[in-house]
Amino acid sequence: MLRSLTSVAQRGRLLARSFSSIDVSKLVVERTSSPKVKVPNDKLVFGAFTSDHMLEVDWQKEDGWSAPTITPYHKLELDPACSVFHYALEAFEGMKAYVDSKGRVRLFRPELNMKRLATSMERLAMPPLDQQGFLASIKELVKLEKSWIPKGEGFSLYLRPTVIATHPVLGVTAAQRIKLFCITCPVGPYYPEGFKPVKLLAETSAVRAWPGGVGDAKLGGNYAPTIRVQAEAAKKGYSQVLWLFGDQQEVTEVGTMNFFVFLKNAAGEKELLTCPLDGTILPGVTRQSILDLARSWGEFKVTERKFTINELTAAVKEGRVLEAFGAGTAAVVSPVKQIAYKGVDYEIPLNPADKAAGAGPLAQRMWNELKAIQYGEVEGHPWSVLLE
Ligand SMILES: *Cc1c(COP(=O)(O)O)cnc(C)c1O
Repeated sequence: MLRSLTSVAQRGRLLARSFSSIDVSKLVVERTSSPKVKVPNDKLVFGAFTSDHMLEVDWQKEDGWSAPTITPYHKLELDPACSVFHYALEAFEGMKAYVDSKGRVRLFRPELNMKRLATSMERLAMPPLDQQGFLASIKELVKLEKSWIPKGEGFSLYLRPTVIATHPVLGVTAAQRIKLFCITCPVGPYYPEGFKPVKLLAETSAVRAWPGGVGDAKLGGNYAPTIRVQAEAAKKGYSQVLWLFGDQQEVTEVGTMNFFVFLKNAAGEKELLTCPLDGTILPGVTRQSILDLARSWGEFKVTERKFTINELTAAVKEGRVLEAFGAGTAAVVSPVKQIAYKGVDYEIPLNPADKAAGAGPLAQRMWNELKAIQYGEVEGHPWSVLLE
């Protein structure tokens, strides 16, 4: 029997009684009757193609959570007064599902994404997220979309859990209705032809986040003001912005990634450095994983502390910087070859032993190790969660 998408979605809502938690046992699934044509692996563009289905869960203050629904991918119909449109009451996550060599589906530390979404929602005065219930629902979506997960090294299904305020009232107040949803996009490796190291422009006027702000929450509202700054950096030939903060011009993050420097410190020791989670830094899952791995190796100092752009450029001039890289779910690691600050370009080494390499030895090793865990090559690793 064919039903229109709207009626399917509405039926899910109407059928749905309300619950105090997100109850995956009440999940309503409506499969598509017209599957999309899949794009071949070599034609994938990040975020440009979506799969056949989407997950939705609604919440309203009087009733609690609706039953989760998985329905054919469809447009949302929203009242133009919804506070997401006016006051940016929106938060999102970015995570990936992988198929391993045995054809099994895996997620990577998904509980950290749920915890972070809960933090972002709390910051937006939204109701407490039922992290387990939402993750269980996302797992059902990923199982249904299994055929959409492209196979091969670096390929995955990118998951975009999102929350919006659907409260149709212009008053600036806590949302009494919200919608959680999740869409998925098949994606290829960020660097299909091997690492392509990036040039960064250290930004001296615009600021991404500040103490007491929301830099540690994954909010759409943090991104809107960065688009113009990023576009201006691109016009000057730099692919990402290195965000600085404060009178001392502390180094914080790069573009949409956390930032790492591997250097020989003043005492001559090797040290992997990233700034601390002081409330202005997004607590990246990749960042945490890199810190955890590096500490588990015990081969060099691993430090979360503030450092300034002057400290970094001085270390470059003294030949003490070994590598620098960004870290995030999309690229995993993104090697840096140059940083521009106040009109001066500072060259960051990649791999002195291999001039053709697009990444330094540490960035390459991190990528190898994370990939091996994500794709289940490391058997039974606690960070890799099997779906079935
Ligand atoms: C999402 C994000 C990151 C990376 O986080 P991961 O969990 O590693 O993907 C870093 N910085 C910002 C500002 C982000 O939004």
